[in-house]
Amino acid sequence: MRSRGMSVDEKSVTVLGLGPMGRSLAGAFLDAGVRTTIWNRTPGRGQALVERGAVAAESAEEAVATSDLTVVCVVNYDASDAILRQEAVTAALKGHTAVNLTADTPDRARDAADWAAAHGIGYLDGAIMTPATTIGTPAGVFIHSGPKELYQQHRPVLDALGGTHTHLGEEIGRAAAYDIALLDIFWTAMAGYAHALAVARAEGVTARELVPFAKGIGAIIPPLFEQFAEDLEHGTYSGEINPVTSAASSMAHIVHASEAHGIDAGVMRAAEGLARRTIGLGHGTDGFIRIAEVLGRR
Ligand code: NDP
Repeated sequence: MRSRGMSVDEKSVTVLGLGPMGRSLAGAFLDAGVRTTIWNRTPGRGQALVERGAVAAESAEEAVATSDLTVVCVVNYDASDAILRQEAVTAALKGHTAVNLTADTPDRARDAADWAAAHGIGYLDGAIMTPATTIGTPAGVFIHSGPKELYQQHRPVLDALGGTHTHLGEEIGRAAAYDIALLDIFWTAMAGYAHALAVARAEGVTARELVPFAKGIGAIIPPLFEQFAEDLEHGTYSGEINPVTSAASSMAHIVHASEAHGIDAGVMRAAEGLARRTIGLGHGTDGFIRIAEVLGRR
């Protein structure tokens, strides 16, 4: 939280967590000339970074005391709480800022922000929406939330990570909310893809043969995001081209083909169930995204 007009030489950061992502973050800071202190629960993971100029701290409290800004990137908030809420670490962080790039839920981010405020620690939450290999390149995508002034103060160091950084708002849970929504899209799509590969294989179609057509199906989706956002905003749900009844029928074919091969169709059964529920509520002639409105009813 301490404010200082940073020159390039003065930039420094601590990275807690040296999994694949933590190592990439620390590597990008080093490449950008930021003085980088590292710490990981299991020692030894940062050896290559030390050879590139990082300073390996003996303890988490020593690590966080070294820099105004600490970037945390571990498996989840249970892990980050286990590190940050140790008495000595909390004390060493007082008056400093932590940016938690660990993925978890909005509620965990809010809880951590309350804890930080109670201990005089500046706190920003964030998420990384691209793989570790993109860090330090223009392809990296970072989202942030929390006090805007604090974010702007530390932006010069965060910029060393490359890519695009977007501050989504002061409400601390907002970055995690985006992260959850975006990963929902990703994992349900990947589960569908894994299932598709299994069924295709049972029919003698290889993953390689499917690639050009899989890319084609994938390309249909981005424009639908725009259209469906409009539908949800205006409550229009036009089903002229692809009503929910038609989607449910298509999904049933997939379930049957899958189960005929003895392949678990749970992913598609769940999707078909949502469509059938929507039809049962009288929305069969609406467009597919009516399902989102039905799911969102309390
Ligand atoms: P992991 O998610 O596997 O996290 C590994 C790190 O968590 C290690 O530093 C590990 O320490 C630490 N850790 C686990 N449990 C504990 C604990 N109880 N106490 C202290 N430290 C613990 O690896 P990544 O680096 O890939 O991911 C880190 C974060 O980045 C995750 O939230 C992930 O979702 C996110 N992310 C990762 C991406 C990627 O491409 N890898 C892409 C986008 C986001 P130790 O070595 O001691 O086990």
